[in-house]
Amino acid sequence: MLREIKSARVERRLLRYVLVLAGEPRATVARRDLRAQPAHPVALLHDEDRTYWAFEHRVYWEDTGLSSADVLALVRERQRRVQRTLERAHAALAAADERPRRRAIPRDVRLAVFERDGGRCVECGSSFDIQYDHVIPLALGGANTAENLQILCAPCNQSKGGTLG
Ligand SMILES: [Zn+2]
Repeated sequence: MLREIKSARVERRLLRYVLVLAGEPRATVARRDLRAQPAHPVALLHDEDRTYWAFEHRVYWEDTGLSSADVLALVRERQRRVQRTLERAHAALAAADERPRRRAIPRDVRLAVFERDGGRCVECGSSFDIQYDHVIPLALGGANTAENLQILCAPCNQSKGGTLG
């Protein structure tokens, strides 16, 4: 219905603007006629069935006899669609990044850390209310490996500061 022409451009001359299509100057428009931009799309050229529109430094064409208000509505709708697609893509990317971080510590890793640390807090030696603590927090790129894990009791883990571990 409304198509953008990426290769088209509107060049500014002294008292007029020139629509350049495929490298060829195709239409000139007095600058006073383009003053409405960027508030409203401006029809630059009628060529056979096609009308070429300039709006916000982009050039579009259509062949359904749209009004300036129609073109504006379609451009805004397209921008909203692009924005929604971007938001969804970023959300999907963030979710994909989260998944491996939230993965539970593998059982064999837990056993290895438990054995290595003697089942006690490496800070105070308590065996009460012990937790697996990430030396480098998962949120900062730490891994669920024995090298990056240690046993801390809850009070020592809390006094370590932060809640990232
Ligand atoms: Zn402790």
